[in-house]
Amino acid sequence: MDDSVIEFGEATNLIRGGLERSAFDETAEAIYPTSGFVYATASEAEAAFAGEHDRYIYGRYGNPTVSVFEERLRLVEGAESCLATASGMAAVYASLACQLRAGDRVVASRALFGSCFVILDEILPRMGVETVLVDGTSLDEWQKALAGGANAVFLETPSNPGLEVIDLPAVAAAAHEVGAMVIVDNVFASPVLQKPLDLGADVVVYSATKHIDGQGRTLGGAVLGSEEFVKGPLMAFTRHTGPSLSPFNAWVLTKGLETLRLRVDAMGRSAADLANRLEADQRVQTVRYPFLDSHPQVGLARRQMSAGGTILTLDLGTKQKAFAFADSLTIVDISNNVGDSKSLVTHPATTTHRRLGSEMRAQVGITDGLLRLSVGLEDVEDLHKDLDQALG
Ligand SMILES: *Cc1c(COP(=O)(O)O)cnc(C)c1O
Repeated sequence: MDDSVIEFGEATNLIRGGLERSAFDETAEAIYPTSGFVYATASEAEAAFAGEHDRYIYGRYGNPTVSVFEERLRLVEGAESCLATASGMAAVYASLACQLRAGDRVVASRALFGSCFVILDEILPRMGVETVLVDGTSLDEWQKALAGGANAVFLETPSNPGLEVIDLPAVAAAAHEVGAMVIVDNVFASPVLQKPLDLGADVVVYSATKHIDGQGRTLGGAVLGSEEFVKGPLMAFTRHTGPSLSPFNAWVLTKGLETLRLRVDAMGRSAADLANRLEADQRVQTVRYPFLDSHPQVGLARRQMSAGGTILTLDLGTKQKAFAFADSLTIVDISNNVGDSKSLVTHPATTTHRRLGSEMRAQVGITDGLLRLSVGLEDVEDLHKDLDQALG
């Protein structure tokens, strides 16, 4: 049967999207660990460098194994174009730096991953870019900040670690009114639970280190958007600044995509179950999870996301109690990653979000008693027993 007549669904894309077999007809995707490529003639090299001939030139520009990952993720996201990077932060930085210049203005939500905050709060201002941080849940604050004009809007929803949910269609509409490009860090939702491009975003960035690998093996990242943006300013920037993803890591991430839906769904079911049970536990002060009725934006979360995700937070009141709890866990590991098949717990105030300082942490709800729990693929009853004994 000619499979070109079948429009692949998500599951088929996750398994077969972008698959290009070599002359050896291997079943699994091939790895091409090469830094460069050769030309039959000098004039062929000349034509390649002049852009007259679309082919691989050098590993910093592109690689066939990296292309398979990019194409597979592009199909799943429903984007025109995708560029893979060596880490999530390389994707975040390139998506902003490729288009901004001194005098430009960025409006961003305040509840951001620690390193994203450093880019917006320290690195871009040093280059003469003004950054304005707003409470992402307040449309009023977005509108006031955008009234001053903006070139780009950057936000994370749900946010790390506070799980704030931002109204994507509303913020995108306000941003587009002033001509700002909307960049969404979709790491917490993952490509299978939320489609920012359908909700008004222009560009989506990922740390592929999280759910896409999801097995603790490699760093990676990706930027997805229009062909005009990705093949234009973004590639012009990345080709010469070098945040390229290695072929081997691209292959690991491609294989990660094959099981992404299964892992994220199973981890999400366990996370929702544990969030419900923890919320009913008197020993826990507060539990936050996007699909819990007690979440301040639960309605919005249910509209924008197809499930609540794999991450929840719990507040135990004090740093001492949070540390004692984390230290008592016997299955869940203390680690700063998320989206992994192994359940991981983090104390954001002293690790991932240390750089924010106490005042900023207070503004985004990162208290000293807060723990972030990334729920993995273990038996949910085992995880429940572990959390229960550690609370004791
Ligand atoms: C981890 C993370 C990043 C950075 O990704 P790396 O792959 O670690 O560079 C960016 N944004 C969010 C929301 C993250 O969780």
